[in-house]
Amino acid sequence: MTRRKNSNTGEQELDLFASSDFEDEQANRKEAEALETSPIISSDVNEDFNRLFDRLAQSTFRSRFYLNNKDKAYIQAKGLNTIRQHAADFIAKRLAPAYIPNDGKQTPMRHVHPVFQAQHATGCCCRGCLEKWHHIPKGRLLTPAEQAYIVAVIMEWIKRKSGSGSST
Ligand SMILES: [Zn+2]
Repeated sequence: MTRRKNSNTGEQELDLFASSDFEDEQANRKEAEALETSPIISSDVNEDFNRLFDRLAQSTFRSRFYLNNKDKAYIQAKGLNTIRQHAADFIAKRLAPAYIPNDGKQTPMRHVHPVFQAQHATGCCCRGCLEKWHHIPKGRLLTPAEQAYIVAVIMEWIKRKSGSGSST
């Protein structure tokens, strides 16, 4: 303990500041590491999405999911902002927790909600798929940045599929 010695110089304050600064830095680094494993950090988000959707298109299973007329009508009626809120809510409750008892089965395959279709189509349906497709490890709480990234992926798929002239 060398606290009292340099109280005149203000070194104590500097010390305290430095240590809390260090904690911030650690937290930032953790977040940066988490982001590094997801494509969100690229400056060209559209290009990241294109790359991801190209990869997904190669999966027969992922490609099977689509928006039916009921889904499209629902999206139209609610609007994209509301759908985005639903997506954020589903992700926070069904995907974000570190431990999910029914992981792998928490996202309905039937046309219950367009976000569920989007989750299956984009590999955001469970923590197993999230790890496989997006390199986000399971067994820990999802960060706010990761949740925002997943919502962005889901909304991108919904926008692409609900746009006019889409075949499926
Ligand atoms: Zn899954």
